Amino acid sequence: MKRLSISERLGLVSYRNQARTDAKAHIEVDTDICNSTCPHQCTTYVCPAKCYTLDEAGELHFQFEDCIECGTCMYACDQGAVKWSYPDPETGRGVNWNFG
Ligand code: SF4
Ligand code: SF4
Repeated sequence: MKRLSISERLGLVSYRNQARTDAKAHIEVDTDICNSTCPHQCTTYVCPAKCYTLDEAGELHFQFEDCIECGTCMYACDQGAVKWSYPDPETGRGVNWNFG
């Protein structure tokens, strides 16, 4: 069986409420902290789904829609900028798990 790359695996993830444009975010990030006092911006390289990105000006942006709920950013951020919760099943945009 062919081994899939991380990108190929992430492409197979399906989400609840995928069609909703108004899905409620399950992670809130205080990007003012990210873009002012954070000394390392480590979440830009530890998030496997690339939800934390830097633009050309070096400003950090966060988007929750591709989050795979791994929880890494919740532990990686030591600056108090990440507020993390599991997605609301009705209004959130969470991963569809194969086994419940
Ligand atoms: S580690 Fe925390 S404060 Fe720093 S960029 Fe990431 S989310 Fe923002
Ligand atoms: S929980 Fe995981 S996938 Fe979701 S934003 Fe945080 S690091 Fe990225």
